[in-house]
Formats: sequence, structure tokens, C-alpha cells
Amino acid sequence: MRQSELFTKTRRETPKDEVSKNAELLIRGGFIHKEMAGVYAYLPLGLRVLEKIKNIVREEMNKIGGEEIIMTTLQRKELWEVTDRWSDEKVDVWFKSSLKSGAEVGFGWSHEEPITEMMKNFIGSYKDLPVYVYQFQTKLRNELRAKSGIMRGREFVMKDMYSYTTDEESHKKFYDSVVEAYHRIFERVGLGEKTFLTYASGGAFTDFSHEFQTVLPTGEDTIYLSREKKVAINKEVLQGGVLEKLGLKKSDLEEVAASEVGNIFSFGGAKSEALGLFFKDESGKSLPVTLGSYGIGITRLMGVVVEALSDEKGIVWPESIAPFRVHILSLGEKLKAKAQEVYNKLNEVGIEALYDDRDISAGEKFNDADLLGLPVRVVVGEKHEGKLEVKNRKTGEEKLETVESLVHSLK
Ligand code: ATP
Ligand code: MG
Repeated sequence: MRQSELFTKTRRETPKDEVSKNAELLIRGGFIHKEMAGVYAYLPLGLRVLEKIKNIVREEMNKIGGEEIIMTTLQRKELWEVTDRWSDEKVDVWFKSSLKSGAEVGFGWSHEEPITEMMKNFIGSYKDLPVYVYQFQTKLRNELRAKSGIMRGREFVMKDMYSYTTDEESHKKFYDSVVEAYHRIFERVGLGEKTFLTYASGGAFTDFSHEFQTVLPTGEDTIYLSREKKVAINKEVLQGGVLEKLGLKKSDLEEVAASEVGNIFSFGGAKSEALGLFFKDESGKSLPVTLGSYGIGITRLMGVVVEALSDEKGIVWPESIAPFRVHILSLGEKLKAKAQEVYNKLNEVGIEALYDDRDISAGEKFNDADLLGLPVRVVVGEKHEGKLEVKNRKTGEEKLETVESLVHSLK
């Protein structure tokens, strides 16, 4: 894409009302627009990142048998009353409204209830199980504080998956495959080394559920990490005394700030029992379906990547989720034809490039390139006898290349 055609512009100054680094950088780069605290729109560059993250997650969810759906935002009060999750005392993040008829509705903040209710139409026998469904859906939550940019939205995109299985054994097998898939996802978006499986309280079958926490100084959570064992526990578990069970010693754990990028939870048969989702086993006996719920904060993940990997000059996108892989900068009118040739060549071979063809100074182009954080910067300038200056945004490493050698090394 030509940068002159992007309607968004970069900004030098920090937005006044923004205290989080992720939103500051993303707003300055024109990736997102702030509508109000905790509510952000995704602009062309930001949307490309979001879609890339979603596609990685989608691939991994499909790999373990997930089927994609989209449930509704509007929720029926009556359904959530069945499981006692409608009242503000039980769930303090509901946004609620009412229909013209007077009926109360809520805006979905999670979807266990409606999906489980819907599954009554499709699940009746052990032959109908297992079922694994997931969605990318915009959740609405009336969060008390929204000061962490897109890491805590009042409106945010979540991937939520739900598993319906016959028993504990088949549930656990799937649960473990989700743990593996989540590790692959965090690895693929560039957070593998910083993200730890973390024991949290709650959940059926065991005394804990799991979170995936990315170590981050600006994270809202505190976790206790064993780098050696590559696991962590959260505060609830530290206080709850599950340590012994996990074979961890308090003295071996490091207290660090982190951000929860994923959460997985076993409901056992409780939720299905409450909502009336039963199946007949091989002997004809009626049993509640076992439910598991598996979330990833897609937009939070994007914010965490920005916070965790940026430097003093701007964002540093991992190649896997960068809006474009290459940033071509042409320095001066005379070099436009040459830059265009590089751009065309990369397009021809399917390498995504953003071409800065704007009539602004070289300095401004360099600053913007650092801020936008595309992995490879290619400068078409007058120096180096027509060779291209190719710089790695992350390492700062520079090389001279011809168009052919550039294409070759990028492929
Ligand atoms: P937190 O403890 O951070 O409030 P949670 O435990 O309420 O999150 P879940 O209901 O388990 O979150 O949601 C699944 C995932 O969605 C979380 O692991 C997190 O990555 C993401 N998430 C939750 N709340 C928000 C939010 N307000 N903004 C962005 N992402 C969120
Ligand atoms: Mg949580």
C-alpha cells in the first residue's frame, strides 16, 4: 500500500488523556482511534494487525477441532438468571438496557450461558459429542477502571472457545490440547518467552484453573513465577495453599507484574445441569454435558505485544502480525521511479509492503518508520551507488542489497 493513500496520519505528540504506552504508540501511529476511555476503534493499520492475530488463533483453534461461530451481543435476562449470573452483585461488569416492550437485556460479556442453551438443540446423545465451538466476538464490560489502553477495554475482542464432552477424561484431553495450542499462539505472536501457564483458583475436577500471563512491568496482575519450571501461580493460589500440591516452594518464586492474555476453565457438569443440557450415554442414562471455557483477549494481546516489544523509538512488530512486512522509504523526487520498482517487485512476489511515497523530509520518514515498527525498512536513496539500505527494525542490523538480493533474502 502507498502511504500517501492511508487516510490516517502519524502524530508526534502524546495524546493528552492517554496514560498507557500501548494506546499512546498505537494512537500516534494511527493504528487505533480513541472514542472514550476503554473504547477504541481499529483503523486500517490496526485492523491488519488484529486480523493477523485472529488468523493465527483461528488456525490453532481449527487444528484442535474448533468450529467457528458468532453468537449475539444482546442477551436475555431470563437465561442468565437461571445460573444466577444476572444480578450486579454476582457480575459487576454487565451493561444493561431494555427493549421497547420493557424486557431487560444485557450486552454479552461472556457466552457460556447462550451457547450452552443453544446446544440443547444439537446435543442429545453421546453420539453428538464432543463439540468444540469458538468465536471472535466483541465483548462489552462495564470495567471500573480503563487506564491500560487496549489492554483493558470496555469494549474488546475476545476469542472464546467452549468444549462440550461426555466426561472428565475426554474433557481433560481436550483441555490439554488447548494448553498446547495456546502456547503455540503466544509463541507465534512473539510472546512465547514471556508468557507462562499460571495456576489460578476455581474450576471443576482440580483445585485450580489456568491463566496465561505475559510478564510485563505495566501489567495489572501480580504472579509468582518459577522460571526454572516455566510455570507461575497467581495471588489467589499463593494464599490458598495449593503450592505443595504443585511441588513449588514459596522461596523459589519470583514476584512479577504480568498481563493475563488467556484464561481456561473447567465447569464440569454444573453449568449444563443448571441450564438443562443433558445427553444419553451408551446405556441410555441421562448425564449433564461437561463444559470447558477458553478465552484469549485478542485486542489485549495486541496491546501486550506493543508494550512488551516496543523500544524508545516506537513499536517493534513481530513479522507474524506486522501490518506489512516491509516499509519502503523513497528519499527525494528523483528516486520515486526506483522506489516504485522495488514496491512493484515485492507486490509481484507477494511480500506485503507499505511504500512511503509522501513528499515529506527524510527525517520525518525515518521517524515514522520507527514509530510504525514494520520489521524490514528499505531505504531508496542516493548513496551506495543505487543499492538499497535494508534495516532490521528489531536488531538495527543494516545491509546493502540489490532489488534481486532483497527479494531473495525476504523469500
Ligand atoms: P481480568 O482478570 O484481566 O479482568 P478476566 O479474568 O475477567 O480478566 P476472562 O473473563 O477470563 O477475563 O476473559 C478472557 C480473556 O479476555 C482474559 O484472559 C483477557 O485476556 C481478556 N480480557 C478480559 N477482560 C478484558 C478487558 N476488559 N479488555 C481486554 N481484554 C480483556
Ligand atoms: Mg481472569
